[in-house]
Amino acid sequence: MLSDYHEEMENSPESEIIESTERQGRGYWMAGPCSAETEEQVLSTARSLANMGVDVFRAGVWKPRTRPNSFEGNGLKALGWLENVKSETGLNVCTEVANAEHVEACLNHGINTLWIGARTTVSPFAVQEIADSLKGVDAEVFIKNPINPDAKLWIGAAERIEQVGIENIGLIHRGFNAYDSTAYRNQPMWQIAIEVMQYFPKYKMICDTSHISGKRSLIEPVAQKALDLNYDGIMVEVHPNPDEAWSDAQQQITPSEFQKLKSSLTFRDSGISNRDFLVTLEGLRDRIDDIDSEIIALFAKRMGIADAIGGYKKKNNIAILQKERWAEIVARSLEQGAKLGLTDDFVQSFLRAVHDESIHRQHQIMNKNEGE
Ligand code: PEP
Ligand code: MN
Repeated sequence: MLSDYHEEMENSPESEIIESTERQGRGYWMAGPCSAETEEQVLSTARSLANMGVDVFRAGVWKPRTRPNSFEGNGLKALGWLENVKSETGLNVCTEVANAEHVEACLNHGINTLWIGARTTVSPFAVQEIADSLKGVDAEVFIKNPINPDAKLWIGAAERIEQVGIENIGLIHRGFNAYDSTAYRNQPMWQIAIEVMQYFPKYKMICDTSHISGKRSLIEPVAQKALDLNYDGIMVEVHPNPDEAWSDAQQQITPSEFQKLKSSLTFRDSGISNRDFLVTLEGLRDRIDDIDSEIIALFAKRMGIADAIGGYKKKNNIAILQKERWAEIVARSLEQGAKLGLTDDFVQSFLRAVHDESIHRQHQIMNKNEGE
């Protein structure tokens, strides 16, 4: 049945036309489901994507999940499904590897495009184990950024893979964990990826817009931002029925949404010295956006703690304002600010605004009647 489908596609003049025009499109596209859930889900996604100009079909076989007892992938049997995708649609396939055993299993199944996940890149031992298992192997290896914002760890992981003779290396920017909730699931911190791109100018830099965004509405703007910064391509999670996905449901899109995304994105002309451009305005503005978003999240957190203190003061019948405590905060902040090049005026007016808001909130809490 599947080979019928393949033959049908091969014989269809329409599919040939789509194929040839789409392949002329720019950029490197990595698309496919977060996880290989069932053979049918994997194959139906791949069939839809086969003529949409996808360079690599992705699907996680071993899934690193933050908490236990959730779906952790189908392992070996799903590698067989990926092999079928390759033979039946002609798509190149790739999956995540986290240790030498995974690498060996992939190579035994003819899968030699691999990616190292963010939770693995953080561990030099794990990356070295993977590198050692790739000695003398003809493989293409993508390295995702580590979950913590550390350019050196990311660079180091790529160097470990490089040192065993792998030439075909790509980098995937999937954003960085933030303790506080921000607009993104993972903070992009574009500057880190830019730094790594400059260090490895010949390696592809791919933006994993799904894992940065965490939600569908951000997939397009994040991908466009990456193209504006002259990234080489986009990774996006695609599922036939995203809401029903067994992992990362909120950040997956359907194949037809993928096609729309592809046609809505604009590739910029790279200009004379494209990688130099990266450090200018665009990159700096993005850093400011990231920092502003972190500042707002921190303000909210600080106010939450002030509210808790307000409740505690009320219970113990203590006055809101403790002058000595406030004087201490101001003195410490002025000293820190001066060391970091901030003027006294700025630090004072900023602290005053924060203090006024805290007092206002505590006042409300203290004067709230029980049961209100
Ligand atoms: C994934 O690509 O599905 C994945 C688990 O990615 P990351 O390592 O970026 O979290
Ligand atoms: Mn995922």
